[in-house]
Amino acid sequence: MKAYINCRIYKSEDTAFLIDGNEIIATGSDETIRRMIASNVEVIDLNQMLVMPGFADTHMHLISLGRHLCSLRLDGTKSSGQLKDRLSRRAIQSEKGEWILGRGYNEELFADGIRPTKQLLDEVCPDHPVMIIRTCGHIAVINSKAMDEAGITEETEVNGGAIHLDSGLLEENAITYVREKMPKPDEKTVSRYIEEGMKYCNAHGITLIGSDDFRTLSEDYRDTLNLFEKLSYQEKLTVRVNEQCQFASPKEFASFLDDGYTFDVGNDFFRIGPLKLITDGSLGGRSAAMLEDYKDDPGNKGMMVMDEEEIETFVRLANRFNMPAIAHAIGDAAVETMLDIFEDTVYEGNPLHSGLVHCQIMSREQMERIIRMKLSCYIQPQFIDADAAIVEKRAGKQLAQTSYPFRTLFENTLTSGGSDAPVELPDPLAAIRFACTRTSIHTSDTMNQDECMNVEEAIELMCDKGYEQFFMNDRYGKIAKGYMADFTVLDKDIRTMKPEEITDTKVMMTVMDGRTVYER
Ligand SMILES: [Zn+2]
Repeated sequence: MKAYINCRIYKSEDTAFLIDGNEIIATGSDETIRRMIASNVEVIDLNQMLVMPGFADTHMHLISLGRHLCSLRLDGTKSSGQLKDRLSRRAIQSEKGEWILGRGYNEELFADGIRPTKQLLDEVCPDHPVMIIRTCGHIAVINSKAMDEAGITEETEVNGGAIHLDSGLLEENAITYVREKMPKPDEKTVSRYIEEGMKYCNAHGITLIGSDDFRTLSEDYRDTLNLFEKLSYQEKLTVRVNEQCQFASPKEFASFLDDGYTFDVGNDFFRIGPLKLITDGSLGGRSAAMLEDYKDDPGNKGMMVMDEEEIETFVRLANRFNMPAIAHAIGDAAVETMLDIFEDTVYEGNPLHSGLVHCQIMSREQMERIIRMKLSCYIQPQFIDADAAIVEKRAGKQLAQTSYPFRTLFENTLTSGGSDAPVELPDPLAAIRFACTRTSIHTSDTMNQDECMNVEEAIELMCDKGYEQFFMNDRYGKIAKGYMADFTVLDKDIRTMKPEEITDTKVMMTVMDGRTVYER
């Protein structure tokens, strides 16, 4: 048993609570709780800090996030010399022949003006294949050893990409090409990715995630599924995972269902979530599927990555097994396709919580259809930071007005938030800030201010709504008797703060299933 006293509690007048194992067994005043306990019970004085149910990040890629966090961080590198130092340090720590993957350098900021090249990498890492990816993600450099390992010769050609043999510079799809030649990580490595990803979540107050991982590292979803099941039985998961299941084909999905898996199968730590579909690309890359040409790229409408018939086959199969379907849809053409399919397949009132992930570019009519069908929406407020500067340029003024309509969706249909990590790093406090301000920190651009949420709504978006989205709100997401002990402690009361200041708040402690999984 543990007693937490002298705190403020989200949506409660109480100031203290008592947990027994993984469950909250009482709440009340400090006095009430003190009276209930024996002298040997640990009492934690929270010094007036705010206790929130753990935040919920309802769409991310946990394994990708972990891989991102485990790669060599090169952001903030100030010279080519410093870049060399970081690389050689990593080389000493890794075995000969092991790949080194670095990310985040920006040669524009190098004081010595020396651009990284194959020769520079060869000098410090002759025995390791190395790839370093620029901060933008569209440019990389590899060394000679990496070229050999990837089997790159003068004849190598990559669709939608370029390889510069003399400098080792890679553009666009050439980066993916090399990455695919890197050996698949073993189970131990993937477990480490999961662990690092979870640690990051816990440090940001998150105890519940929706995560899309089946197609991240392996051709066979069973590898990922088995690993998550194993880690959950070993009680090694420190966030509760709802897997958003992505498959290569309807056939593979059918075999998953044949194996007896469907929605909600699992345990307290790892459960099968909805079917996940990817229908289009991104706004930044102008690959989101649009009904009209991109305003800043005439002749280009982006593209659908799956045809309508295949999507419908997937959704009907999911329906038959009472499994919700959620679809990545960013452009208005992708949104339109999904609305047409859902119109024919979703049950009245959408009891399964099928819906749209991202739902960014849309017209008023499309917004109204989403609301009429009560589709679930999984939105990413942190995207506003990068997208505020480009949405009008890409989609035009009129369409931009009704795009990213977060407040309208929140008020009218079940809408929860997420980071889509590693696209953005999971940070519910930042998400709350962006949902309220709709203003980019980096560029100061703003989006339609009528769609700003207030702090109370934005907190619900990143907390309560996640539990509701995942049908977990009867046992999770509240500091109340009979609820599971999943919570986070913040040093300030975000409920009464200006949105711009919320990101100065510190997560002091995170508890999941009664275990302290993070402490500052
Ligand atoms: Zn995603």
